[in-house]
Amino acid sequence: MPSVTELRDTLHRVWGFSDFRPLQREAMEAVLARRDSVVVMPTGGGKSLCFQAPALVHAPAPAGDAPGRKGFALVVSPLISLMKDQVDGLRVDGVEAAYLNSTLGADERDAVMASLRDDRCRLLYVSPERLVGEGSQGFRRFLQQCGPRFVAIDEAHCISQWGHDFRPEYRQLGRLREDFPGVSLHAFTATAGDRVRRDIVTELRLDDPLVLVGSFDRPNLTFRVLRRGNLHTQIKQILARHDDEAGIIYCSSRREVEALAEWLVGEGHSAVPYHAGLPDQIRARHQDDFLDERVDIVVATVAFGMGIDRSNVRFVVHAGSPRSPEHYQQESGRAGRDGLPAECVLIYSGADFLRWRQMLEGNGELTDSARALLRDMERYASGTRCRHRALVEYFGEPWHRDDCGACDWCLKELDAVGDSTTIARKILSCVARVKQTWGIGHVTDVLIGKPSEKVVAARHTDLSTFGLLKDESGTAVRGYIEQLVADGLLLRDGDPYPILRLTAAGTALLRGDGECVLYREVPPPSGRTRGRAKTAVGQLADPELFDVLREVRLRLARERGVPPYVIFHDTTLRDMAERRPATLDDLHGIYGVGARKAESFGDAFLDAIRTFRRAER
Ligand code: ADP
Ligand code: ZN
Repeated sequence: MPSVTELRDTLHRVWGFSDFRPLQREAMEAVLARRDSVVVMPTGGGKSLCFQAPALVHAPAPAGDAPGRKGFALVVSPLISLMKDQVDGLRVDGVEAAYLNSTLGADERDAVMASLRDDRCRLLYVSPERLVGEGSQGFRRFLQQCGPRFVAIDEAHCISQWGHDFRPEYRQLGRLREDFPGVSLHAFTATAGDRVRRDIVTELRLDDPLVLVGSFDRPNLTFRVLRRGNLHTQIKQILARHDDEAGIIYCSSRREVEALAEWLVGEGHSAVPYHAGLPDQIRARHQDDFLDERVDIVVATVAFGMGIDRSNVRFVVHAGSPRSPEHYQQESGRAGRDGLPAECVLIYSGADFLRWRQMLEGNGELTDSARALLRDMERYASGTRCRHRALVEYFGEPWHRDDCGACDWCLKELDAVGDSTTIARKILSCVARVKQTWGIGHVTDVLIGKPSEKVVAARHTDLSTFGLLKDESGTAVRGYIEQLVADGLLLRDGDPYPILRLTAAGTALLRGDGECVLYREVPPPSGRTRGRAKTAVGQLADPELFDVLREVRLRLARERGVPPYVIFHDTTLRDMAERRPATLDDLHGIYGVGARKAESFGDAFLDAIRTFRRAER
C-alpha cells in the first residue's frame, strides 16, 4: 500500500502544502485502505484534498506484472458551479480531472468519456442526477469498466432531512454499493449533527465506516449577534470595518435582496443582488463578478447562496435569522475559508422565527424536527454566552477554553445592565398587567410608553406599567424580553400570534425571589485605519506589494478565464509579499505553490517582485 510519505510528497509537489491539516492524513489513509468513511470537517477544513490527493497516489504493480490501469476517483458533487471550480483548480495544478454534467456539449462529453476509457483521467466529478438518476444504468456500467478506485460523496448531508440542504436524488446513491462492488464509499460533509451522520451511514449502506469528526470551531471567525434595530445603520457599521473587502449579505426574501443591493450601490458600495428570481444570465454574471473580484458584496437569499463561494470572504451578514444552527453554520462558514480573520454577524428579531414557522407550515414542512431546529436557532440568537462555545457544543463537541476572544460575548460587547433585576421585574409585571394575553411588540410599546393604536384601544395607557421603561429604546426592551424568554422567565408561544406568559421562575422573580442579569449590546469599535482591510490583512508586512501581486493574479486569471483564487489564494500572495522570493527555488517554499503553478505563473510573480524592489530603492 502506498505510504504516508507518498501522500505527503504529493501534497507538497502538486499543491505546495507542507503538511496535512488535522484528520486529513487519517481520511486519506482510509481511502487508500478502501475502508468506507464519513469525514466531517468544517468548511475550509480541507475536505477536498482528502479525496484529491489519494486519487493521485497508486499502489505499485506487483513485481513482474505489467503496470495495470491507474483508474480514477469518482466524485459526486451537487453543484455544477462547485464542480467546475474544483476541476479548473485541479487542472491549473496539473491534475487530470474532468466533470460530466448537463452543461457539456456532445463533443466535450465524448472527450471526457475517451479520457476515462484510455485511463487518462484521475478524478471525475458527476452530479447525483447524472450518476443515479433515471436511465443512468448504462452510464454506471461504463464507469465500472473504466476502473473506479473509490467514490467520494461531497456535501453528503444532502442525503439527510436533518441536514440543511436535503436533496431527494442523494437518496438514490445507496445503489452505488451494488453497481460498484468492492469500491469503497467516502462521504464528506461540513454538517456535524449526529442525526445527519447516522443518516449518511444508513442511506449509503456504509460498511463499518471509519468516522472522522474534526473540530468545528473556526477560530478565525468572529461571531456577533445583533437584535434588529435600524438595519441600514447596523449594516453601515459592519461595512465600516471592511472597506474594499469581500462579503455576503443574506436576506430572507428576494424583495429585500433587491432593496438592500440597491441601497448599498446608492451608498457607493460595489454590490450585486443574487437570487433565484433573476434571469439565469444575470445571475451567472453577478456570480462571476463576485468570484472574479470585480464586485465586493453579494446580497443573496439564503435559499440561493451556495454558488457564491470565494475563499477571501471577510464578512457574512445575516439580515434575518436562518432556520437552524446547521444552516447558520453552513452559511456563516463561507467567511474566512482562507484561514484569515473574518466576521459573521447575525442580525435578527423574534419575528424571524414566527415568519419561518408560517412559511414552513404553508409548505407543509413544519415537522417536529423543523420546529426543534428553529428553537435551537432562537436559543443561539438570544443566548448570552460565548458564541463559539454555543456552536461547538451544539454540534456535540466539548469546549475547553474560557474565552474565545472572537465573539461579542467574550469581547465584552454585551454589557451587563446595572439594574437588571429591577428592569426584569418591570417587564414581568407588565406582562402580568396585560393579563398574559399580548405579544412582544405590544408589551414593548406599553413599557416604553408608546400609545400605539392597539395600546390605546386596549386602554393600556392607563396601566401603572405604561411608560415604566420610557428611557429605553424599543429595540433594547425587545432585546431584554427575548433574553427573559431565553432564560426561561417568560414563555412565548401561541398560534397564530405568540403571546407572552410568565413561567414559574418568572413569577418567583416578580415576587422578589432571585436575581437575573440582562445584557445590552455595545457596538464594536469601528476602528479601521486608512486603506486596505485592516481587519483581515492587519498584520500584513507589505500591503503595497500585496496589491501589486493581486494585480498580477487578476491579469493571469483574466487571461485564462478562471477566478483569481484558482491561480493563488490570498494566503499565498501574503506569504510572497512577506518573504519576497527571488528565485524559482524560493518560490517552491511559499505556501500553496505546487510544481505546476510555479512553472506556469512563477515568472510573472517573480518579475513583479523584482520590479517592486527596484522601485523601492
Ligand atoms: P472544504 O472543502 O473542507 O471547505 P477546501 O478543501 O476547499 O475545504 O480547503 C480549504 C482551503 O484549505 C483551500 O484553500 C485548500 O487549498 C486549503 N488546504 C487544504 N488542505 C491544506 C493543507 N494540508 N495545507 C494547507 N492548505 C490546505
Ligand atoms: Zn466567545
